[in-house]
Amino acid sequence: MRERAVINRIAVLAMHTSPLEQPGTGDAGGMNVYVAQTSRRFAANGVEVEVFTRANAPDLPPVVEMVPGVTVRHVPAGPPELDKNDLPTRIAEFASGVVEAGQDGFDAVHSHYWLAGQAGIQAKRAWRAPLVHTAHTLAKVKNAALAAGERPEPLARVLGEEHLAAAADRLVVNTEIEAAELRGLYRARAEQVLTIPPGVDLDCFTPGDRAAARVELGLPVDAVVPAFVGRIQPLKAPDVLLRATAELLARTPSLRERMVTLVVGGPSGTGLDQPELLQRLAVELGIADVVRFLPPRSGAALAQVYRAADVVAVPSHSESFGLVALEAQACGTPVAATAVGGLPVAVADGVSGVLLPDHVTERWADALAGIALDPVRRASMSAAAVRHAARFSWERTTEGLLAAYADAARTEVGACTCTS
Ligand code: UDP
Repeated sequence: MRERAVINRIAVLAMHTSPLEQPGTGDAGGMNVYVAQTSRRFAANGVEVEVFTRANAPDLPPVVEMVPGVTVRHVPAGPPELDKNDLPTRIAEFASGVVEAGQDGFDAVHSHYWLAGQAGIQAKRAWRAPLVHTAHTLAKVKNAALAAGERPEPLARVLGEEHLAAAADRLVVNTEIEAAELRGLYRARAEQVLTIPPGVDLDCFTPGDRAAARVELGLPVDAVVPAFVGRIQPLKAPDVLLRATAELLARTPSLRERMVTLVVGGPSGTGLDQPELLQRLAVELGIADVVRFLPPRSGAALAQVYRAADVVAVPSHSESFGLVALEAQACGTPVAATAVGGLPVAVADGVSGVLLPDHVTERWADALAGIALDPVRRASMSAAAVRHAARFSWERTTEGLLAAYADAARTEVGACTCTS
């Protein structure tokens, strides 16, 4: 058996968003949760972590201790307030800031998303450390499934991802589907690509008392509650839930007295006007009295939202995994999701929830009603959802990543970008 390298110290690069930010709004979502959850567990395993992120607010301290063993460095690169579309123009600045700040050497570098990946390539070279990269989403996949009116991902990103597919020593993906996409669309080599499923915080997201959760949220205990949780942007398609709600009310007008559709999250990306557009849509559909918008929340407060819901809708156009689906299931709430990206892995179709092929309103109404209005089916799906989610944990993800770093340190397979 091959000897494993010892990993004591790693650099985690996340240019566009920090693990210290509230997920579910702006650019902060699953990637933040991934970086925060795995970093904590690396530290718990005795591995020192430095997270490098762009200073995206004025007056941020240069260095913050997230938890003992995890340091977050705010690297200046351009004006703090910067549109995500302008971030590529600051990659070089970010990369040199990272290389300069991280002089003490690392056993491995893990970059997240293509922007940080470009800095990762530079860091690999400067620090002579192996580079492990996680794309989180891929431009070529995203561009093939754009929501109506959404701008395609730019060529710079496509080329940046292609560069990473050649240069990184390991490419970590969430599912086999993504592994095949990297090999097929980006010509990644089989030995580069490692499938390591993401996790869910099984201490925080636990089944609980639905009635108590509803009381805490000010909802009637006997309400019918479908919910959407996540960044509010066209890609996530929360409008599908609103249309399905209207359809259910048209079919059964008496439901109106006890239906509450929750939309939890904040504006994000190209959908900065989305919360207002959604509110307008609710008015147009005649369901403004039924839909409740709640600001993003974390931890125990978010778990209560999942527990209060009868069903959580994940109608995304594309989704590399869908942590929300796992979290809801861990709380015992079945999920209705589109069968895209990693969602067929995150949700066991017909067992812990249902997968839908498209966004047809009638189909979504049927799916939501089939869970929320059928207590016996819901109860059996709820139990199955808890079992399904328990197959995933951040401890397992962290173990897989540490093995990947050690493996990459033993045998670097990325294309050499060294000039010296
Ligand atoms: N999230 C949160 N508060 C909210 C809404 C979302 O903390 O109000 C978190 C959620 O718990 C999940 C992440 O944001 O861990 C979203 O991850 P997902 O993979 O579902 O979508 P992404 O944002 O990565 O596209």
